[in-house]
Amino acid sequence: MTVVIVGAGPAGLTLACELSRRGIPCRVLDKAPGLFPGSRGKGLSPRTQEVLDDLGVADAIRSGGMAMPSFRIYAGHEIVAERTLLEMLGTAIPSGPGVPYPGFWLVPQWRTDEILLGRLRELGGDVEFGCEVTGFTQDAHGVTVTVSRGGTVEPIRASYLVGSDGGRSTIRKALGVGFAGETFESERTLIGDVRADGLEGTFCHVLTRGGHVSERFSLWNLPGSDHYQFVANMATEDVPPLTLDSVRNLLVERSGREDVVLRDLRWISLYRVNARMVDRFRVGRVILAGDAAHVHSSAGGQGLNTSVQDAYNVG
Ligand SMILES: Cc1cc2nc3c(=O)[nH]c(=O)nc-3n(C[C@H](O)[C@H](O)[C@H](O)COP(=O)(O)OP(=O)(O)OC[C@H]3O[C@@H](n4cnc5c(N)ncnc54)[C@H](O)[C@@H]3O)c2cc1C
Repeated sequence: MTVVIVGAGPAGLTLACELSRRGIPCRVLDKAPGLFPGSRGKGLSPRTQEVLDDLGVADAIRSGGMAMPSFRIYAGHEIVAERTLLEMLGTAIPSGPGVPYPGFWLVPQWRTDEILLGRLRELGGDVEFGCEVTGFTQDAHGVTVTVSRGGTVEPIRASYLVGSDGGRSTIRKALGVGFAGETFESERTLIGDVRADGLEGTFCHVLTRGGHVSERFSLWNLPGSDHYQFVANMATEDVPPLTLDSVRNLLVERSGREDVVLRDLRWISLYRVNARMVDRFRVGRVILAGDAAHVHSSAGGQGLNTSVQDAYNVG
């Protein structure tokens, strides 16, 4: 039996580790030249940490991350509040033997992906980068997957195909399953990784002019990295060009702070909030997992967490 996994994000890599450690052959194909470089989904939930522990990467995740920092809210230069994530959410995570990881753990997504790929290699697997899956057919005995690699097209025969190929999933579209939900067209989130001078302490720095967090520019310290993840929400018609200068202007506009200086923009993206889920996770021998099957607002931190947990369950 061979399983073809499309996509080497958190879902595909988790599934590949889970299958490999059980001796089930799999091939992971990704159209990109390497792992995704951005910090994207960064807050690992208690259950995700349990899954990663079971996959044998708990130590790497612990040393590659830190406890979720508090939110430090500024009005201009003045610090007006400091609150933990759980205080912000008005909730608590119970502790005890049944909850070995009772808090969120901050790890940039690129590092979680790297750790999972490292584990996959230890288990004898790998990712075939530069391989785009363009289609498939299935019958009672297996799936024939069409793969384009360096300009040549080849078929791969597998027992099962898993589409963990992200929110725009080719596999989901080819299956024709429903993807019901909402797309919030009126708002966008600008997100990226940048160096910042002028901030002190390890926090999610929430910069505002007057303490009103609806008009904020957030800068999250990323553990073991000189980069911060910046996040700013805005009306669709207000989206600026995706350049370092625009991000600098936005920070000054929202906070009045010229002493916080941004440089070295490593990744930038515009995020449109979608809340959608497939009406079937499986059609015959083809299975969907992660963003291919459901997409969320980044605000709840569900994207990466549910992707890892899906893949673990599928495995
Ligand atoms: C801009 C942005 C910001 C985000 N911010 C947050 C956040 O703050 N918090 C949070 O929890 N989540 C966030 N997310 C969501 C989180 O990153 C995703 O939920 C998570 O990456 C999903 O993992 P995945 O493995 O399902 O898919 P992905 O990580 O998207 O991986 C899919 C992989 O499939 C590959 N692929 C796609 N099509 C093909 C094909 N046809 N053939 C071969 N390979 C293919 C892609 O190259 C990619 O590597 C963000 C997402 C984006 C895009």
